[in-house]
Amino acid sequence: MRRRTIQSPIRIGGIGLHRGEYITLTIKPSKEGGIMFVKGGTKIPASPEYVIDTTLNTTLGYKDVRISTIEHLMSAFYGLGITDCEVEIDSDELPSLDGSALFFVRQLESSGIKELDQEVCPIVIDSPIIVGNPQSGIEIYPGPFCIRYRIEFPEAIIGSQEFVFTGNNYIEDIAPARTFGKLEDVEKMRSLGLAMGGGLHNAVLLNGEDLINPEGLRYKDEFVRHKVLDILGDLWTLGAPVQGEIRAYKANHRLHIELAKKIKESKQ
Ligand SMILES: [Zn+2]
Repeated sequence: MRRRTIQSPIRIGGIGLHRGEYITLTIKPSKEGGIMFVKGGTKIPASPEYVIDTTLNTTLGYKDVRISTIEHLMSAFYGLGITDCEVEIDSDELPSLDGSALFFVRQLESSGIKELDQEVCPIVIDSPIIVGNPQSGIEIYPGPFCIRYRIEFPEAIIGSQEFVFTGNNYIEDIAPARTFGKLEDVEKMRSLGLAMGGGLHNAVLLNGEDLINPEGLRYKDEFVRHKVLDILGDLWTLGAPVQGEIRAYKANHRLHIELAKKIKESKQ
């Protein structure tokens, strides 16, 4: 696979989930430098060692600069095989848009994808790596690329869901899957001054057993598909596709990034 960037700069505006402020993002073509986030002149590589927080989302940090919720844009970069871009932002979080990666994918496609001369070598897993535990963890084994993700929730609308992604049809099967949450958690976050921009336009929300969104789900198993979207974005911080068989069970951003760090260490 060749390295890829975009043809021309694109500008994306939208509300951030936590502060509820309007944010402008400019994505520019670049050569080689990988995916680089820039805020107020400070450059932060989208690399596992610069991830400083994974509580609610994936946050990059360097010195006193933080950039939160990079995972959906990173997932869109994965989906289009984009390895090199500069992402300039005027806030400390990315716009949440509709809570999926679809809008990012469409905007990047509208700029056009440009193949660079250099090749990107896949990261080949040659021995098993395990993070977390059997109750919540991820394992990766040598083999062709595949993600088998399983989640279990007490709410019947989610219940037990499994999705197997083999690298095909990212735009159709994964990019539109929205983030999800419980109304009670959103209310709790609001009382802490978080999720101020959160609502039905950028998440699937559950109130007990009930889905609040009038438009319904985009897929019956949208929940687990979103988890696949997230892990693809988090692993794209490695800067190259991972060649291995991934099995994730009730995992989260912390475990996705822990796995990315261990994969990186195993190759050093
Ligand atoms: Zn997500």
